Amino acid sequence: MRMKVPRYNYRSQFGENSEVLFTEIREMLLAGQYILTDHVARFEREFGDYLGVRHVHGVNSGTDALLIALQAVGVKPGDEVVTQANTFYATVAAIRLSGATPVLVDADEDSFLIDQTQVAGAITERTRVILPVHLYGKPTPMRTLSALAARHGLRIVEDAAQAHGACMEDRMAGSFGDAACFSFHPSKNLAAAGDGGAISTNSDEIAKRICLLRELGQHGQNNHVVLGFNSKLDAIQARVLSWKLPQLEAWNQRRSSIAAMYRDGLRELPIRFQSMTPGEKHAYHLFQIRTGERDALVAHLQQSGIDAVIRYPSPIHLQEAFADCNWRRGQFPVAERLAKELMCLPIRPDMSAAEVEYVCEQVALFFKRQSARLHQLESAAPV
Ligand SMILES: *Cc1c(COP(=O)(O)O)cnc(C)c1O
Repeated sequence: MRMKVPRYNYRSQFGENSEVLFTEIREMLLAGQYILTDHVARFEREFGDYLGVRHVHGVNSGTDALLIALQAVGVKPGDEVVTQANTFYATVAAIRLSGATPVLVDADEDSFLIDQTQVAGAITERTRVILPVHLYGKPTPMRTLSALAARHGLRIVEDAAQAHGACMEDRMAGSFGDAACFSFHPSKNLAAAGDGGAISTNSDEIAKRICLLRELGQHGQNNHVVLGFNSKLDAIQARVLSWKLPQLEAWNQRRSSIAAMYRDGLRELPIRFQSMTPGEKHAYHLFQIRTGERDALVAHLQQSGIDAVIRYPSPIHLQEAFADCNWRRGQFPVAERLAKELMCLPIRPDMSAAEVEYVCEQVALFFKRQSARLHQLESAAPV
């Protein structure tokens, strides 16, 4: 029996009493409450309380959050920022847009996170920031990285765009670094109704710089003291995010149960999963599986009505936009292998057990057919 298994269900994210929210938004529209209203301050406070950090400031997008955070912690043109070769394009684009030079290290074969054994070797006298990505929602273990940063006088900026609600030893992703960056793009665990982002920090001074940078460097009306951006979280987006935030823990819990069902349902197949680390709470933004048959499996699942996708098919060092960085094919072999072998299965908080079972059945069917085909080839081959 064929089913449809989508990746998103926005209707379910708004809940059954969504009319209350829509009425409020109507009033906001009519009253002209658009820019840096109390709605924004309220969401910033709520999200800060949730993360356990002193300050959160909303901006246009996760990409802007990274760019502004880098500048707010003091990155200047010519500085170096160390990050990983397997991340979403925006992580490294933001480093370039800040004027700094990205220095890549390879990914770890099992965690799919930054290979921490290679970070120290990437530090030079120009390094200013280490930028780990909590990729797919798995929190990067921060103890060693924080110690390394302290030893070299470096700042840490976390890319937490995929990790709302992820924890490591009871501390939230986004509360470890000098600053951390979130995206509320509609695909993320906490989704706005459009673009949105935020930066969290425990430093009063960095928070002040973020506020200046997001508002054209303005300190008091028409008094511009630094060269800033115009990048603020919209009031309507903030209201939508406040509406959804109380559900985030339950949603992530549900994502985690679905991930456990996948790990169990697929355990006998020739597939690898992102490793699990003691003390972590994974946010399961994406559920990644790793297989040498990736492209054929994605095609099979898509034909079966399952919204399986590839994240990300090209590592950073092979993106055309970064050609002038002079990275080479073969330079980050793990990132290249992951780009060839990883694919995402749908994972939504409202996904039913029947949907998860159907996905598992279709993955199993694919490998059964593969091995039948192999047998046929072997028995047809001349001896
Ligand atoms: C989504 C994402 C971003 C960028 O966020 P936008 O809101 O789309 O600009 C940055 N880094 C990572 C890892 C992301 O997944």
